[in-house]
Amino acid sequence: MNLFFWRKRKDKINPLYTEGLNLMLAGEHASAMEKFRQIVKQDTENINAYNRLAELYRQTNRPKQALKIHLSLTIRTNLTDFQKVQVHRGLLEDWEALGKYHKALKIAEKLYSFQKNNLWTLKAQIRIYKKMNDWKSAHQILTQMLKIRHEDNKPLEALYLMQYGITLMQQAQYSAARKQFEHANHIDPNGAAPHLYSGNSYSRENNPEKAIEEWSKFAQKDPENAFLVFEKIEKTYFEMGQFGRIAQFYESVLRNDTDNVQATAGLADFYEKKGDTKSALDLVERTLELEPSSIRMRLLYSKLLNKIGEKPAVNQQIDNMLNIMSKTQVFICAECNFQSEDMLWLCPKCSAENSFHIQT
Ligand SMILES: [Zn+2]
Repeated sequence: MNLFFWRKRKDKINPLYTEGLNLMLAGEHASAMEKFRQIVKQDTENINAYNRLAELYRQTNRPKQALKIHLSLTIRTNLTDFQKVQVHRGLLEDWEALGKYHKALKIAEKLYSFQKNNLWTLKAQIRIYKKMNDWKSAHQILTQMLKIRHEDNKPLEALYLMQYGITLMQQAQYSAARKQFEHANHIDPNGAAPHLYSGNSYSRENNPEKAIEEWSKFAQKDPENAFLVFEKIEKTYFEMGQFGRIAQFYESVLRNDTDNVQATAGLADFYEKKGDTKSALDLVERTLELEPSSIRMRLLYSKLLNKIGEKPAVNQQIDNMLNIMSKTQVFICAECNFQSEDMLWLCPKCSAENSFHIQT
């Protein structure tokens, strides 16, 4: 039997502490705080109880009180290594809750002096850099963390780099921003979003050819979201006076993704503007066979039918659309946006009462 172990067990756990922990777990904050206050009144050496008390202050939106306790604990000389770590973790979260991110980051450095490359601290640093919108640093810590843990998460790395690029764009540093978008693409070649932003940056620099090139890559890599760039591309070709290339673009999207409703609508719209109503009608009718419930397609169809004076057919389309909409009606919770096909009076997700209304 290890005598040292037995001797350590002598400072046995105060039953009040266990009660406090149980209350804390049950979410009974006020009663839990009362227990921990009682403990520290009897025993001012009970660092764990002080820590819990501070934690509860922070959890109940009183980070200043939490900070006061944690700061007073840091000057104690009898803390074990474990307690030092606990106190500084608390301190970091207090500064974070107070929005003093630079102070929180200083504590992270201190924590590394106790535990090198600690996962908790790495995660805290990333979280804080994200709150500061400092994606360059967030990315740096992320790669460090992934490396230490022998993990691989290229899409996440690329996302952080893209966010960094976006902040550079907000400062009108377009070519520096593009470097980050290219870096993101290099790390995760499947990602499409950096092309969208890269295109936007070229567009702001009045480089329409390059903008369209990047936007087209986006459309190719992510057909489902390709519609996000349709208007941009159309507008840009229009400004360049190259109307023919609008049709070419939509045709190339449709070669990739035959039943892309938005691209079909774009192409039909193009024919209509050109005065070729017949081609537009053909295209819309063919698409409606594939996508009979597309409201957008039926609206476009109604517009074209109206143009050629087919009033009864227009009315028929309106009836069709009303029919589709009544079948797809959705009720939504105003508190948490939970969606339901049935009307509800008590939200199953957030327990709000009378919060449902029909989505219009
Ligand atoms: Zn809800």
